Amino acid sequence: MKTALITGITGQDGSYLTELLISKGYSVHGIVRRSSTTVRARLDHLFHREDIYNKRLFLHYADLADTTTIRRIMLKCTPDELYHLAGQSHVGASFDIPETTCEFTAMGTLKLLEIIRDLEQKPKFLHISSSEIFGRPDQSPQNEMTPMRPVTPYGIAKAFATQMVTLYRESFGLFACNAICYNHESPLRGESFVTRKITRAAAAIARKHQESVSLGSLDGRRDWGFAAEYVDAMWRMLQHDHADDFVLATGTHHSVKDFLDASFKAVDLDWQDFVKQDPRYMRPSEGTRLVGDASKAERELGWKAETTLPKLAELMVEADLQRIDASETKPAF
Ligand code: GDP
Repeated sequence: MKTALITGITGQDGSYLTELLISKGYSVHGIVRRSSTTVRARLDHLFHREDIYNKRLFLHYADLADTTTIRRIMLKCTPDELYHLAGQSHVGASFDIPETTCEFTAMGTLKLLEIIRDLEQKPKFLHISSSEIFGRPDQSPQNEMTPMRPVTPYGIAKAFATQMVTLYRESFGLFACNAICYNHESPLRGESFVTRKITRAAAAIARKHQESVSLGSLDGRRDWGFAAEYVDAMWRMLQHDHADDFVLATGTHHSVKDFLDASFKAVDLDWQDFVKQDPRYMRPSEGTRLVGDASKAERELGWKAETTLPKLAELMVEADLQRIDASETKPAF
């Protein structure tokens, strides 16, 4: 039985990856931050399974900055594979909390690499990088060779982490890889990301729980894929015969308006009747023309993103409708 350690196990990708690894027979350990509220709703169904929780799925509490504890966890569970998903992942928020973003996203990654460097039994290491490292690129679509030109604190932190991973692979011989992920969404996406904000609003407006939704710029374009497919690519990267970096993307891009259109169409409504624009959600700067060329992943890993708009929006709206309907039928005690 292989053992995997996941940082950021309670997030969207962490949850899908845990499901995938458990289904493949792995023993999975997750690192979570100790806080007053332990939010792990995305994995709740697994925690309630007696055959899984504390048998093949284990949680350990540590902050990414707490290298002593993380080293101790690694020595204890001796993972074959380490998936580093944790970080401050919200681009908009990174303008408000740039230091925290760099602390977690940039330094957090370097600290993990330093721990692995000293271990005798080194796990294979996967870092979730981001299309935000490209910022405003000259070429579109971008591939693994495209120069990094980040334009957000998040992108800058990710660029640092990505280059460190490459450096540790090339200089210290670590099996360390970057999954350069374009936006990947799902019903488990955090509610402050634009896709989930839109699908929740479309469902709530359709059920008459909400009257409108306030958004920032509607012109931003993104390469939006389905998260459940992206974690499969991450796993494939660590099974590959050598460590390398891969762009994971759909190769198509759409505007926020396109996402609105697909989501509100799924509930037979016209988004223009319900959307307000609010300068609070505008950003000081944004990446542009971010669309990925994932042909290397297809060639070498046999991976291709399948789900794009409008299907992605439809499945997310459907899940949000089901959530509302389930909460309405629940008894009040
Ligand atoms: P990311 O910035 O690519 O990680 O993903 P987001 O989902 O946060 O944002 C995607 C795009 O939606 C960006 O161009 C945002 O400026 C735009 N956007 C417009 N309104 C909103 C909003 O209310 N919240 C967020 N998060 N993004 C918005």
